Formats: sequence, C-alpha cells, structure tokens
Amino acid sequence: MAGYTPMIQQYLAIKEEAKDAFLFFRLGDFYEMFFEDAIAASRELEITLTGRDGGTSEKIPMCGVPYHSAENYIARLVDKGFKVAVCEQVEDPAASKGVVRREIVRVITPGTVMESKSLAEKTNNFIVAVSAISNSAVGLSACDLSTGELYVTSLTYSIDALLDEINVYQPAEIVGDEKLLDKLRETAVWNRPVLLTPREPMTAEKLRQQFEETQLSGLNEARYRAVSLLTGYLDDTQKRSLGHIRTIRAYEPNQYMILDHYTRRNLELTETVRDRNKKGSLLWLLDRTQTSMGARLLRRWIDKPLLNRSAIESRYEAVDTLYRNLILREDIRSELNHIYDLERLVGRVAFGSANGRDMNALKGSIRRVPQLTALCEASGSDRLNKLVAELDDCSDLAGMIETVIIDEPPVSIREGGLIRAGYDEYLDQLREASTNGKKWLAELERQEREATGIKSIKIGFNKVFGYYLEVSKGALAQLPEGRYERKQTLANAERFVTPELKEKERLILEAEDKMVDLEYSRFIELRDHLALQLHRLQKLAEVIAELDVYQSFATVSAERRFTRPTVTENYNLVIDEGRHPVVEAVVEGAPFIANGTSLKQEEQSMLLITGPNMAGKSTYMRQVALVCIMAQIGCFVPAKSAEIPLIDRIFTRIGAADDLIGGQSTFMVEMKDIQLMTEKATVNSLVIIDELGRGTSTGEGMAIAQAVIEYVHHHIGCKALVSTHFHELSHLEASLPSLANACMAVQESGDHVTFLRKLIPGAAGTSYGIYCARLAGLPESVIGRAYELLEGAEIEAALFAQMPRRASGGYTIFAPLNDTPAPSPVAEAVRETASAAAVQLSIFDEPASE
Ligand code: ADP
Repeated sequence: MAGYTPMIQQYLAIKEEAKDAFLFFRLGDFYEMFFEDAIAASRELEITLTGRDGGTSEKIPMCGVPYHSAENYIARLVDKGFKVAVCEQVEDPAASKGVVRREIVRVITPGTVMESKSLAEKTNNFIVAVSAISNSAVGLSACDLSTGELYVTSLTYSIDALLDEINVYQPAEIVGDEKLLDKLRETAVWNRPVLLTPREPMTAEKLRQQFEETQLSGLNEARYRAVSLLTGYLDDTQKRSLGHIRTIRAYEPNQYMILDHYTRRNLELTETVRDRNKKGSLLWLLDRTQTSMGARLLRRWIDKPLLNRSAIESRYEAVDTLYRNLILREDIRSELNHIYDLERLVGRVAFGSANGRDMNALKGSIRRVPQLTALCEASGSDRLNKLVAELDDCSDLAGMIETVIIDEPPVSIREGGLIRAGYDEYLDQLREASTNGKKWLAELERQEREATGIKSIKIGFNKVFGYYLEVSKGALAQLPEGRYERKQTLANAERFVTPELKEKERLILEAEDKMVDLEYSRFIELRDHLALQLHRLQKLAEVIAELDVYQSFATVSAERRFTRPTVTENYNLVIDEGRHPVVEAVVEGAPFIANGTSLKQEEQSMLLITGPNMAGKSTYMRQVALVCIMAQIGCFVPAKSAEIPLIDRIFTRIGAADDLIGGQSTFMVEMKDIQLMTEKATVNSLVIIDELGRGTSTGEGMAIAQAVIEYVHHHIGCKALVSTHFHELSHLEASLPSLANACMAVQESGDHVTFLRKLIPGAAGTSYGIYCARLAGLPESVIGRAYELLEGAEIEAALFAQMPRRASGGYTIFAPLNDTPAPSPVAEAVRETASAAAVQLSIFDEPASE
C-alpha cells in the first residue's frame, strides 16, 4: 500500500471486505471504481475507462457513474450475476479532517435485490442456502427478501434430490456449506446464471435477534443451520434489521408431489422449453390473478402440488363457489384489481425504502379489505369464510397513513411536501410563516412598483443570492439613487436587495429548512411505526393472495369448461374426455379431440402407445400428467369428469432437442432419467416415457425398452404411459397382464393420411415416417426411393411386425396385434441384448428403497 494516497489506501482497505463484489466507492457526486474493478466494470457497463493519480508513478485505472443514475448501473451488473458493494461517505466532508470516513452500507447481490427495476412483479426472487450436516442429511432454506417469505426443509442427501428441491425456487443465488456448493458446481446444469457463495452460519445469539425462540426451536440441525447460513448472509450484505423476515415456514419435501427438474420443464409448468417464456406454459394458462401476490402464489402452488386430500378438497370448495357465481367472482376480481403488491410494500417498509407513494398504495389496498371480507362472508363457501374469519383488516394503519400523508405525495421523502396539514402543529406554523413570508414578498413587489413607477420590477430567487428585486436595464434610470443595495449585474438587468428583504428571506428559508427536516422525521416515524406492524400486513397479504388464486382458478375453469375432479386415496386414475389445457387453448382452427384415460390396478395400469409421428401421442401423455397436477393444486381440470388418485411423483422422459445443453448425448440423458425413475418411483407415481429406446441402434433400443417396461410392470407397479415407435413391442401385451396396447387412430384414403387424434385400443402397424417426410416437402424422388427401400425392408421385417390389416369399416385402423409373434432367432437375439444391456447399465438392480 506504501506510496498510495490516503484515499486510495482507504479504498484498498475497504475493498478487502468486498473482494467478490464491484466496489462502488462514493466520491462526491460519483461512485468510482478502481483497479481491476474499473477495468471489468468499463467492459460490462460500456463506460469509459480513465486513470487517476494515486500517489504512485503509474495512473490507477478508474471509471465511475453519477450517483443519481447508479441504480441503473447496479441493476445491470446484478442482472449479469455480479455483486455490488455500495460504499458511502459516512461523515460530512466539511466537518472531517483528512480523508472522509467511508463504509460499505449494503451489498446488492442477485438473490437480494430490492429495487423494483430488477424484480419481476409476478415472480419471487429467491436466494437459497444449503447446509450439510453429515453425508446423509442436508438442509435447505429459501428466502425472498423482497417479500419476507422464508421456507426451510431438510432431506436425506442425494445430489438429485437436493437439486430438485433447489430448482423449485429457481434461485438467482445459493449460499452455504462449501463442500455442498462444490458438488453443485460439478453436477448442476442451470438454465440461468446462479451465483454460488460459500459461507459460515451466524452466531446463535445473532440468530435469536432475528427470530423468536418458538420459530427456531422446532428445527432439526440441518434446517437450523440452513436458516442460520441464509440469515447470516442477509445480515452481512444488507446491514440492517429485516423486520419482515420473522416467520420460518418449515415443510417436509414429501408433503408435496415431487417433480424433478426435467419433468417441470418437459411439462412446461411455468415456462416453455422452446423460449423459456411463460407464454404457453400451464402457469400462463391458469394465471388470471389480479394481484402480483396472487400471481406469485399461483406459481408456488404449481411448483408444489399437494398430497393431502382434505387440503385439496378445501381448495376445490372455494373454487367451486366462485365458479358457480359469476357475479361474486366479478365483484372479487374488481376489488382485487385495486390492491397493490402488499408483500413487496411491506418489504420496502421493513427495508427502509418505502416513500410517500408506497404508503398511499398500502392505504388504498387496505381500504379494499372490508369489501372483500364481506364478499367472502356472503359467498356461502366454507373455505372463503375461514379465510376471512377474524381477519385483522388493518384499518387503523390505513387511518394513520391517511392522517399523516397527503393524497398525492412526491416521490422523494427528503424535499418536504408530503405531510398533511393539521397533523403537526409546529409544521403548520412553519408553513404559515413561509406562506406569510411569500405574501409579504408579493406585497413588497406591488409597493415598490408603485413607489418607483417601474412596472417591470419583480422579485426573484436563486440559490446563490437568495431573494432579490430585479430591475431591467432600460428602467434603471428611473430608479432613485440609493434606494436598494446592488447585488448582481446581468446583461439586461440589475438585481438588488434591501435589509428588510434579507430579514424576511432569513425567516422564510429557515422555516423551509425546518419544514423539510420536520416532514422527513414525521415520515420516518410513521414508517417505523408501520415496521412494527408488518406481521399484520403480511397476514393480510397472504389471505388476499390465496383468494386471488381461487378466483383465478374459477375464472379460467369457467371460461375453459373445466370440471371439478374427485381426488381419492385409491390407485385408479380415470379421466373421461380429457384435454390438454394448453394445446387446446393455443391450437386454432381445428377443435381439440378429447381422449379418455383409465389406468386401474388389477386391470390395466400401463399403456403402450404406438402410432405415427404427429398423431398426438405426446400431447396425450402430457395431458394426463397435467390433469393430475391441476387436480392436486386445487384447480378444476379439462375433462368431462376425472377421478384422480394422489400421485406422489411424476416422472417424465420426453425427448427434447435441448437435452444436449449439458454436453450429454440424448441417449445417456434418457438412461439417467430412467435410472432415477427405477430408483425413486413408487406404486403411487405416474411414469411417462415418450419414444422409449430411441437414440441407439434398433436392436438395442428395443431391448432396453422392453426391459424397462418389464421392470416398471413387475417391480414398481405404478401407472405408466409409454410411447414407442417399436411396434414390435406390442406383443408385450400378451405377457404383461397390467399392460395394454393403445394407438392413435389414423384415416387413410388413397395416399393421404388424416390424423384423427383419437386414442383407441390396440397397436398401430406403421409409423408413416415417409408420409411425414412428404408433408415436410422432401423431393418426390427421395420419397419414392424411401418407399422402395421400405418395401424391401418390410419383407424382412415381417419376422418382427405384421403389416397393417385393413378394417372393414370406413377408415383404416391399425388393428391390434393380438397374436404374439412366433419366437424367432431375431427375437431371441433381442432378448439376449436386453440382458446384456441390463448388466452394463446396472439400472435393473433392485431399487435401494426395497
Ligand atoms: P406425436 O407425439 O404423436 O408425434 P404430438 O403429440 O406432438 O404427436 O402432436 C402433434 C400435434 O398434433 C400437436 O402439436 C397438436 O397441435 C396436435 N394435436 C395433438 N393431439 C391433439 C388432439 N387431441 N386434438 C387436436 N390436436 C391435437
């Protein structure tokens, strides 16, 4: 450090505390960055890199941003996944000797932003902490600093299980025990930047300052540590009390349906696979919420379908009421429409960043509560009644805001003009003094015009000279000598003062200064008072969010003709005329063709679905999964009727082009997913595999497909839908009692094929791949050659498959292949390959859970 100027030495000392962040170092009206930070920031923010003398022979790299626009620059860095430490001058430069004292006042990180610019309204911004207690126990806690929600759970360690749980929160940042973070670094493939920071837990004493004993006492070691790691990080970075984070919500992972990361993506629950957009996802379809709180709760519900029948039924009961009563629904919607984001307003109050407008937004929202409560009370719904029973409507808080803050306050809280007249006597006196002073000025102007006869005399004000009398050049001659004291000469006017004017000026300015200070402290008093009441507002926000999701479910269910399902604790899944809710909503022109599902114990619990490409197989399979998820989050479902057993877990293996992001082959990804399924699926799970066994040679693919199907059938016994292009596998129906063949019906006329999108029993005979190629516009010569080759091949393939038989009805159905093909040398070979593959992949071992 030797050789550097005192200020640069100070900079370097502070930089030691924020090595992993950009240090925004306040220098007058700028935040400056130096050294490596300056070089990196100039690149990331595209701002000019300059140099500054720092006491050494070489200039120090420097770049800076004006303090008033810093928020934008900080947001840009944080959005890119960086941290920014904001270092302020913490004493008055005028009063300090030597270098002014500076401190880091806050570290802004991707997981802890509070600024609305960086926060998506309808999405939580979670930061997650992970703790490792032993090789077998890990804890996870997740917090949204902007709303104050804090969740915690623990699980038996497996990296997959941990990742599945982390992915529920889609965190921007993860902190915690270093070894675990290393493991995540090695294993995880994130679909957005995630910042990982190792850290230590905070002391027990500090943790007790944040949470009451009752919140902490129930936590096991892993959970306690996870909460401690997270709170410690928030404390270190935010450097202020966080009064809105007082409640710890602990849960068991198996309280909810488990959906692994791939399944969430494959089923496009909250975003689509193609462009990661909400549009086209289940969330997009179901989101008819009116408030941001409701929208965020809906997303959390979709992420965590319930496993508790009575809790699900209770949601249906509320939805049903609103579904049947359009007027009630519309009334509630229009009330909700006026409610602001209470959760984030509460967050800003706790954080100390709420302004006068935020206060009025709170007030306005609270004022809607009595009407909402009355609507719920009159609704006739048990659930809605319970929701608002004994609800604290916080009207005293609205009343208080009303007394203190004017109707249209300015954005700034430091420039006065926001406290209502009549609230503070002294403030009123000051205001009067200032108003009287101004009246006196007007009177003075009038008098002077009269006395001098100069009509153009006017009183003005500027920051340097204060109040003055201005006389234009042309009129100067008329001004009696010595009447005023000359203060300033302009090109075409002179400015004057009088002792009387200066005296009034002092009074006016003093009053104004005092007014601004007083208004500020009155505002802070109000904010501090509200900060003690945050738990009440949070409770209110929770109720409003829940009500909003109910009305959202009811609205979309009524519009899209969804029906109330029956949830059972049995095995059977029966859907009558089910539809894919999203495809139905987006496909224009042709109507969506409904298809039933019946997966029953003792009858058939597995379907092997064959049929040409484009026939609708994967749409059908996804639709079944979506209907189950919708039912278990408490929404009505797109079906004529549905009987849904509580599904503990859904596995999907649905090929998508972007499996390759992790640098793994599609086949390897498929095998890994299937391995996971064999290990974790229970009899109450739902397994969906699309195009099982593709991605490797036909012989091997088919062998593996058969082996997997047999495994699910014999060892898991869960409900499963499997599609395959190996029509040869349809013979399995004969040997596996719980498996049935099904296919998508197709109508053939001449050389045209029409997809009927109807699921029918039996197996299809051919996949129409070449027909699809023609639809795609391949040259006729290529198509012709392909048919030629196919014909040759089919003669050989007759060992495996039978040609489609023409049904006697109007259209061709590829009739069920009921007869098992005679054993052949080729079939034997397949069986051998299957057992070889089994050994190699060791996925057929007895599952660990058994
Ligand atoms: P496959 O998996 O058999 O190749 P898809 O399920 O991808 O076929 O379906 C292809 C397209 O057919 C879908 O994108 C959808 O637009 C349409 N489709 C599928 N099922 C239906 C249906 N039941 N009713 C109407 N259109 C459907």
